[in-house]
Amino acid sequence: MTGLMAGRRGLVMGVANDHSIAWGIARALRAQGAELAFTYQGEALGRRVGPLAQTLGSSLVLPCDVEDLASVDAVFAALDEAWPEGFDFVVHAIGFSDKAQLKGRYVDATTRENFSRTMVISCFSFTEVAQRAAKRMRPGGSLLTLTYGGSTRVMPNYNVMGLAKAALEASVRYLAADLGPQGIRVNALSAGPVRTLAGAGIADARLMFNHQAAHAPLRRTATLEDIGGSGLYLLSPLSGSVTGETHFVDSGYNIISMPRPDVLKA
Ligand code: NAD
Repeated sequence: MTGLMAGRRGLVMGVANDHSIAWGIARALRAQGAELAFTYQGEALGRRVGPLAQTLGSSLVLPCDVEDLASVDAVFAALDEAWPEGFDFVVHAIGFSDKAQLKGRYVDATTRENFSRTMVISCFSFTEVAQRAAKRMRPGGSLLTLTYGGSTRVMPNYNVMGLAKAALEASVRYLAADLGPQGIRVNALSAGPVRTLAGAGIADARLMFNHQAAHAPLRRTATLEDIGGSGLYLLSPLSGSVTGETHFVDSGYNIISMPRPDVLKA
């Protein structure tokens, strides 16, 4: 299958390097003919994202720090120039919290300041992007954000990020209801653990990764290719009637209620 995304174009936010989830989705989109623009956070990441984008034929690579709304507006102004007839999709793969608070007990670790910052960057930025994108998107468009199962179940050390992801998933439902009448779909992809920069910020990340690989029904974690393929599905006409969903791509870990008995007995 090739050309599923031919004639479609969109914005990918959140590539830091070639391990990023956003990069896995970008590659899958490009393989199906999508035209892509990228954002990066800060000059250091820009030096990595620029050459990566070029490998997918993209020269529209724009700085954006979602804490600075002017930089978000500048991205959409640049898209207006490059793509005056609008675009079809956005990938929002952005998350941040102070890593000093992603360890130990949520009840002890979390400050008001970091709670607010985590919520703005990891949750509300998706709404701010949706507000701007929806004005420019063509009917049949699709918005996608990235979430994690720590939104509904307690994962050690995920702490305030779990709260932000819960709010993000709720915002997906509200945005889907608001934007559905204009033909725009909004979904979240709930990925299993992936070894990325953001993933490494959570204490004992390797332990969680190994635990989920051992206990997920598929006995492995999701690859970037798995996540890319599912992202492609949610952004393409193949998922034409899917909106407001949180779609797990986690080798089935979310259905498991307890560790495997054979492992417990060992
Ligand atoms: P990553 O470090 O590759 O990507 C995170 C991105 O967020 C980076 O590109 C970073 O620049 C960007 N970002 C952070 N603060 C920002 C800001 N203020 N403005 C603009 N961009 C900012 O890690 P990743 O794991 O690919 O993370 C992408 C998304 O996937 C995040 O929302 C993360 O929570 C989510 N997710 C990750 C995992 C995992 O195990 N790695 C699992 C499920 C969901």
